[in-house]
Amino acid sequence: MKNTIILNAGHNNADDCGAAANGTTEAIEAIKVRDKLIPLLKQNFEVAIVPDELNLKQSIKWVNEQYKKLDDGLAFSIHLNAGGGHGAEAFYYDNNEISQQIAKTIIDKYCDITGFRNRGAKADTTTRWKRLGWIRDINPWSCLIEICFIDNIEDLKRLQNDYDKIAWAIYSGISAVYNIKPIKLVSDSSNSEENMSSNNFKKLNKYFEKYIDEMIIKDIELLKKRNKKLKFSYPYIMLACSGIDLFGGIEKDFSDSGRSNSKTRFRWFVNEWMGKINDLYKEESLAYLIYEGWRCGVMHQATLKKGFETSSHLYPRSRHLHYIEDKDRIFIHSLQFAEDFIEAQKMYREHINNSGDANYINSLYSHLSNMMQESVNNRFNEFVSILKAQNLVFNSPSSSGGSSGTTATANTEVSNVPQEQMITRLPDDDPECVPSAPPEEDDLE
Ligand SMILES: [Zn+2]
Repeated sequence: MKNTIILNAGHNNADDCGAAANGTTEAIEAIKVRDKLIPLLKQNFEVAIVPDELNLKQSIKWVNEQYKKLDDGLAFSIHLNAGGGHGAEAFYYDNNEISQQIAKTIIDKYCDITGFRNRGAKADTTTRWKRLGWIRDINPWSCLIEICFIDNIEDLKRLQNDYDKIAWAIYSGISAVYNIKPIKLVSDSSNSEENMSSNNFKKLNKYFEKYIDEMIIKDIELLKKRNKKLKFSYPYIMLACSGIDLFGGIEKDFSDSGRSNSKTRFRWFVNEWMGKINDLYKEESLAYLIYEGWRCGVMHQATLKKGFETSSHLYPRSRHLHYIEDKDRIFIHSLQFAEDFIEAQKMYREHINNSGDANYINSLYSHLSNMMQESVNNRFNEFVSILKAQNLVFNSPSSSGGSSGTTATANTEVSNVPQEQMITRLPDDDPECVPSAPPEEDDLE
């Protein structure tokens, strides 16, 4: 199948706007998603766009005049469902395994990323017309997606709150069909590489300030204040190792399908950057041991692996990374290790800030940005519905406007929404205290 995507926003802006509900129409919403999808797809595909003024018959004719063969590409049409229900589905040519596989790949990926209920891949013969023209009458491979229900207010809100995410999810689905890794658009606001990199540069630094300076390093400082009381000095190791993982991932990418995994990126940071603080960290064997013996030991078995011992005050700092001969162990001064990490990441950040290399900055930011996109939506939604069903729900102080009743009225699943008196609100008395939570890209602006 050729890398050509023939994109169609369902219905048209002339005589058939499709379903209409909640102050909008299928055509309007499909066009919005389509417009977000184009630049994403153009990174890996030839993209052809069916003109918006054509109706279904004319659209099919437009496609078939240019694309004669089955393998000429994938014709993809975006629709919104209506008629009571929620979630997304995709249609395929009945009794064709490849067509079914295409639809299934796209809808699974799409729902995984967006969190919409997955109604599955469905044969076009299961529709009320017993056939779909877009599927049956078009020359190349084709797929039709119903991205959500326009007449379900929750569905529609989820769509309208984040068209970028919806487009990204479709793009990821189509990319999966072609076995291509989707590429994040690093910036929508500007296409100049220099502007993009200066924006990404700011966001990277903002991220480091928020999640390294304000969290990991602050917690290390807090521990340090009561250092002599710490028997269990692993928190230093855990905090430093999580930071090492992060910086390794920023440089080398986090994804498993990418070039590196946590082991290689972790060891890279130890050798390359902690090695500037203490020559011993340049040793491959030590980087290996820190990963396997300290990090994995503490994370997996609540103690170091055999051959190490640690304390943050029992022996002086000068004994850090010394061999205790009579015990046949290597000594780690865990506070020293944490401080070595703090110094190393300072140097690494200076190196980033002084690089002046737009491509480098953009690639670092795209690694970070990909990491922030990672989602666990299916399981997340599964467990949220369990919590909701048991009314284990509360609102954070920032959203305590008291409007929980109003959103429920337009929703068909009112039974799942807890009653007002069951919602526990947290007191809004400590503005300094923020919960730890994963980053959102908007926070970095
Ligand atoms: Zn439609």
